[in-house]
Amino acid sequence: MKAVAVFPVQRRIGLVDHPEPSVSSPTEVKLRMLEVGVCGTDREIAAFEYGSPPPGSEYLVIGHESLGEVVEVGASATRVRPGDLVVPMVRRPCPDPSCAPCRAARQDFCSTGEFTERGIRGAHGFMTEFVVDDERYMNVVPPGLRRVGVLTEPLTIAEKAVLEVWKVQQRLPWLRPARPGQPPGHGQRAVVLGAGPVGLLGAMVLVNAGFETTVYSRASGPRDNSGLVRSFGARYVAAEGVTTTQLAEQIGNVDLVYEATGASRVAFEMLESLGTNGIFLFTGVPGRKGPIEVDTDLIMRNLVLKNQLVLGTVNADRDAYRGAIRHLATFASRWPQALGRLITSRTPLDEAPALVAGQPTGIKSVVVLE
Ligand code: BGC
Repeated sequence: MKAVAVFPVQRRIGLVDHPEPSVSSPTEVKLRMLEVGVCGTDREIAAFEYGSPPPGSEYLVIGHESLGEVVEVGASATRVRPGDLVVPMVRRPCPDPSCAPCRAARQDFCSTGEFTERGIRGAHGFMTEFVVDDERYMNVVPPGLRRVGVLTEPLTIAEKAVLEVWKVQQRLPWLRPARPGQPPGHGQRAVVLGAGPVGLLGAMVLVNAGFETTVYSRASGPRDNSGLVRSFGARYVAAEGVTTTQLAEQIGNVDLVYEATGASRVAFEMLESLGTNGIFLFTGVPGRKGPIEVDTDLIMRNLVLKNQLVLGTVNADRDAYRGAIRHLATFASRWPQALGRLITSRTPLDEAPALVAGQPTGIKSVVVLE
């Protein structure tokens, strides 16, 4: 069967003829892949800067943001049935018996660093015609979300982050909704750094949770997503004309920053303007560039005197996948057009190697396998 693969040693990306997998254990299921999203991680893998093939393989089948259809289930599979739409999880537990997070199915907190990630690290991914996997990694998506289900995995980033915010901010019990039905972020102000797919999905989560949300982004010209941002109720500020300090002055107390640019300079500038009792969420994975100057005294003073919290988060556990699927259904009914506009291109599998190796365009590019 066809698959898109990266050969790190030969520094090559292309279509390969990959063996079609078959169900070999009673809890395994076979998926026909429908759509696979392309993200910055895939582009780094295609530039041979990140990722690794499974042991013994000279190539890695890429693709981790996916949507598939179950076509076969093992004898004792109970969670999914043929015909179900599913999004498989990406990260898989390490084998170390002493890794408590992995043994508790929280491989997103793996303590040994020996986890694998399908399509990224040590395990083949989903940009291929068929995939076999254990049913425990499947998340069922309602048929009504067929067109947007591929956004589940990138949405798990915001989902896990916000689940952690609710836990951490229990330290501020007076922020709890005053009346039933009031969303939990009511009265709080959030800044989202970046208007790519992760930033836009994060902004939707925050608006939906009741935060007054401002998206701060450098993207201008054809990459200007300001109209889209406003259409789901967030404010848009172009970074070109406004510094992070000015941004914070306009907003008032910045209660939460959701970083989704992977650019450390703008992130640390914004950290200097985080508000009292605020929380700063890092989600980006920057490449290693040169060191930059940061006002560490100011940051440290603020962290202490303003009870601030800085939190990094990598996706994701099952609750985050479930939450992402629920949120997609909410967004599809609240903002159907905005949600649909996040997917800006659909490309057939044969053209996927050029797509992944080329310059990013639009918001989310998706490879279609049908
Ligand atoms: C994926 C995560 C993964 C991370 C680091 C992201 O693009 O969504 O599942 O953990 O890259 O490899």
